[in-house]
Amino acid sequence: MMNKILEIKNLSKFYQTNEKEIHVLDNININVFQNDFLGIIGPSGSGKSTILSIIANLEDYDLGSIIKKDNLKIGYMLQKDYLMPYLTILDNCLIGLKINKKCTKENIEKTKKMLIKYGLGKYINSYPDDLSGGQRQRAALIRTLVLDPDILLLDEPFSALDYQTRLNISKDIKNIIKEEKKTLIIVTHDINEAINMCNRIIVLSNTPAKIKSIYKIDEDNKDEMYLYKKIWSDLTND
Ligand code: ADP
Ligand code: MG
Repeated sequence: MMNKILEIKNLSKFYQTNEKEIHVLDNININVFQNDFLGIIGPSGSGKSTILSIIANLEDYDLGSIIKKDNLKIGYMLQKDYLMPYLTILDNCLIGLKINKKCTKENIEKTKKMLIKYGLGKYINSYPDDLSGGQRQRAALIRTLVLDPDILLLDEPFSALDYQTRLNISKDIKNIIKEEKKTLIIVTHDINEAINMCNRIIVLSNTPAKIKSIYKIDEDNKDEMYLYKKIWSDLTND
């Protein structure tokens, strides 16, 4: 039986600005199950980041409801890695633990082990500038993972990277999140990235965003070309 950990029901959201009201999200319904790799794809400005901010409690909403499993721990990783340039990779990865007063000996060991396991062992005492974009992204993910979230929210995490790096790191990050047995919601406007990483893709329409289509993807048997064409046509035809 699939274990539902998050349910977004009939969600609508308006932003108020001085001049006008913007209707951003219109009756969005999403179920998220444990170990899901859910992709949300949509045009720029369609409200993708807003959905993640609402899930993370950083933004409120106007209509509908959000039901979370008790004590659901959420990890949010932004588009830019925001590693502190003057802290070592280890210290960067400990920031969240320090803020949460959980920087115990065990957790420091766990962080080091994770850095080693995921190929950053020799950079533990290096600074972010010594790492490639992909490695920095991996460090940022580890910083989020050591807090042991149930669900990870990634907001266009690879958009600052070049195409080849993006392809490699997206596979890399997917494998790490799988290995750690987490649930993922990733927002992107990159169709290939969504197809590579997700078992389900939700396509949003232009604003006010509705759910335009949902694709279930069988990892062992996916027709990438077919999916690409379908999603492309969803994004380009209103
Ligand atoms: P996406 O992530 O899909 O590009 P966003 O969720 O960032 O879209 O934004 C959706 C729409 O809401 C855009 O038109 C954006 O300008 C508007 N918007 C986002 N945040 C705010 C805000 N804090 N106040 C007013 N309008 C906002
Ligand atoms: Mg955004």
